[in-house]
Amino acid sequence: MSGISKILIANRGEIALRVLRACKELGIATVAVHSTADANAMHVRLADESVCIGPPPSRDSYLNIHQIVAACEITGADAVHPGYGFLSENAKFADILDAHGITFIGPTAEHIRLMGDKITAKKTAVELGIPVVPGSDGEVLPENALKIAREIGFPVLIKATAGGGGRGMKVAKNEAELEEAVSTARSEALAAFGNDAVYMEKYLGKPRHIEVQIVGDGAGNAIHLGERDCSLQRRHQKVWEEANSPALNVEQRMKIGQICADAMKKMKYRGAGTIEFLYENGEFFFIEMNTRLQVEHPITEAITGIDLVHEQIRVASGAGLSVTQDEIVFSGHAIECRINAEDPRTFVPSPGTITHFHAPGGLGVRVDSGAYAGYKIPPYYDSLIGKLIVHGRTRVECMMRLRRVLDEFVVDGIKTTLPLFQDLVSNQDIANGDYDIHWLEKYLAETSAK
Ligand code: ADP
Repeated sequence: MSGISKILIANRGEIALRVLRACKELGIATVAVHSTADANAMHVRLADESVCIGPPPSRDSYLNIHQIVAACEITGADAVHPGYGFLSENAKFADILDAHGITFIGPTAEHIRLMGDKITAKKTAVELGIPVVPGSDGEVLPENALKIAREIGFPVLIKATAGGGGRGMKVAKNEAELEEAVSTARSEALAAFGNDAVYMEKYLGKPRHIEVQIVGDGAGNAIHLGERDCSLQRRHQKVWEEANSPALNVEQRMKIGQICADAMKKMKYRGAGTIEFLYENGEFFFIEMNTRLQVEHPITEAITGIDLVHEQIRVASGAGLSVTQDEIVFSGHAIECRINAEDPRTFVPSPGTITHFHAPGGLGVRVDSGAYAGYKIPPYYDSLIGKLIVHGRTRVECMMRLRRVLDEFVVDGIKTTLPLFQDLVSNQDIANGDYDIHWLEKYLAETSAK
């Protein structure tokens, strides 16, 4: 591929392996970076070269821009793929790579900044013709909160403008709760992001979380690859994702997809991105845009047959998109289960050594994981040890396959979330596709009370 011959993968775990696989298929050399805790990790073993960039804590290794740039220079890597998390949405990192003549496989630093601040992102969405959640025009201060909340109507949600991971988010059901919600959200935001700016939105009661995958070439072409339904969440963390959404029909899918693709064309967006919406009573409300690859991207790959990392590398190198919108065919249904090293009920992390590991196989099954028998899960990073992605011609076939596959999956020596998925796959509401963003927490509370 023109322009890129060696990619440094600035990440770890399953996503580092995922990116490495795409590079191998494209004939691009790979450099793994790792902390001392990850010296034996699968992405390190399979890469053409590897560089140790520091001690276990992320801030000293995977977030250490200086070390990563030095690793590029030592190995002659001409591009960096950031994966998700870590430096993937760090505009300063994109700027620094640019200054060193290294290609950042992602959007421009300007677009990362634009979407990284949620108030600016919402304003931009409105300008681009994307429907947003009704809310404040800008920052909410203790002195103007009541006036704005009355205009929007209770209940309202106070959100951090620098937000992420559901932090700095507080609901106020009525006027009496407002003052405290604003002050708690502001102090949580300050503690988590070093920025106490908050804004206000109408709090939606029973929405689904539906997001649209887009890819742009940076020159005004952009496509959408349909949506993912990520409503099954715990503490705003996605647990189970599906493509397509059981709640949408083809017309709705193509309509919201086209709105997103058109917006990305106007922006001249480059790279892969996800536009996240809440969906209630047939209406979409933009909440945020992620300017990177997402954990749940494989379900989109399963139903479109398009490798999103190939597309990211293509557009970063200036080769353009490999497909036009007309050529994209949506086929069947896919579900992803996030396998975490956690207790399946309390979600308390369960690091340790995996004694036995057997990944399932067969038609329509994909396991993205760097885990193996004997692998010791370090306690320093997130608890995702793998993703199970199952594809079928219909949602019913996909669920039947998932049930079979979950019985085959063996991970011994640690606790994992696999038993939770065994429960969910047999649940009637899930079978009916009848759930919203609060369903899973209610289900967990009810079933653990029994
Ligand atoms: P973060 O960046 O912190 O993850 P998001 O804006 O993406 O924040 O919202 C995360 C989750 O919070 C959503 O998936 C949804 O479950 C809930 N949420 C966000 N905004 C609203 C809203 N206006 N009404 C109801 N729930 C919301």
